[in-house]
Amino acid sequence: ASYERIKEVDEKVQAFLTLNEEEARQHAEKLDQAIQNDEANNVLFGLPAGIKDNIVTNGLRTTCASQLLANFEPVHNATVMDKLHAQETVTVGKLNMDEFAMGSSNENSGFQTTRNPWNVEYVPGGSSGGSAAAVAAGEVAFALGSDTGGSIRQPASYCGVVGLKPTYGRVSRFGLVAFASSLDQIGPLTRTVEDNAYVLREIAGHCRKDSTSADVEVPDYLSSLKQDVKGLRIAVPKEYLGEGVHEDVKKHVLDALKVLEDQGATWEEVSLPHSQYAVAAYYLLASSEASANLARFDGVRYGVRSENANNLIDMYKETRSQGFGDEVKRRIMLGTFALSSGYYDAYYKKAQKVRTLIKQDFDQILNDYDVVIGPTAPTTAFKVGEKINDPLTMYANDILTIPVNLAGVPAISVPCGFSEGLPVGLQIISKPFAEGTVYRVAHAYE
Ligand code: GLN
Repeated sequence: ASYERIKEVDEKVQAFLTLNEEEARQHAEKLDQAIQNDEANNVLFGLPAGIKDNIVTNGLRTTCASQLLANFEPVHNATVMDKLHAQETVTVGKLNMDEFAMGSSNENSGFQTTRNPWNVEYVPGGSSGGSAAAVAAGEVAFALGSDTGGSIRQPASYCGVVGLKPTYGRVSRFGLVAFASSLDQIGPLTRTVEDNAYVLREIAGHCRKDSTSADVEVPDYLSSLKQDVKGLRIAVPKEYLGEGVHEDVKKHVLDALKVLEDQGATWEEVSLPHSQYAVAAYYLLASSEASANLARFDGVRYGVRSENANNLIDMYKETRSQGFGDEVKRRIMLGTFALSSGYYDAYYKKAQKVRTLIKQDFDQILNDYDVVIGPTAPTTAFKVGEKINDPLTMYANDILTIPVNLAGVPAISVPCGFSEGLPVGLQIISKPFAEGTVYRVAHAYE
């Protein structure tokens, strides 16, 4: 059914970079056998899954939507893939994204621009745009994405699906091609909050192959869904409903708060005073980490090597010049500059201090309140081509998601209405490792 649906719609949506059809069909046959033998016991058994193309899949091409990795076939699985395989999910294929997860619209893909299934003239968001679009278009039952500054939540919001960025350390990053290692997290994109909780429960947990993975027990998120929100305290940062946030988006968020109020929750306006510096700090830190992480793509160890060079240095230069797209180059240069001696204190170190202040804002508020609520993005999806020539406007679009990554806390985007035919997303944020609370509130609203 999944492949039939893909044949029907993916020419328009363009969510998939690689299909895994032959292997998936063989796998499905084995699963049929297991059903007959009464061995289909896993909760995610047989579910068709789409995987963002920066999560490595053994023997299945993994490109990070970069021409530099156009021919890269990993020889091992990411930990999340091993966990999904243990559940007998079926990997349908690999999903488009902005190159190396740098972008907010999928227009930075080195292969194709995925379209928003609600209106194909609009972007699906990014960088996990392929993941959000594939779920929204009914091509897969769920998808995995990654979120460094909003890349699960913003496309979920634009495509009208549910997307969760877990607490930093909750899900293993082993086998997630690193963009900004101190911010990256893998998370599920699904049609409902309940589906999301099912997937997270299976992919979360400590992993000894990821030194930043947290040794914290994974609770049963499904039981959180049964709790109500009576007495729950909600904080609404005034910065999240201020300037630049579209009137319709504001209205839908306020309506959602009313729904929660009707169920016994209360809300108050608060302030996250340092969130205004989040975008600037993020783009310094993320680019710095990216410049170091992407040094490994040298034409030797992975992917495509330029044919033009006759010596080693030229081979590096040619491979990277031809293989990387403009946005990736821009960030490598910005990051290399910010980390260079003489500038380190002025940029990188200062951005780290700002990050601490942003984290303290959240710590303080989440001491007094159970969750923080606001929109996921200031607007609904924008048109393909509208922002691509203006990187700063594109960066500013992440203003409501980035603080969450800097603070390392969990957050979800759930659909909360439409504006001119395009979905609006509600963002619910909580304390580290309180994904259960995030799900509880999202489910009560949904
Ligand atoms: N849009 C942001 C960026 O371009 C976030 C990307 C992400 O979360 N991977 O960096």
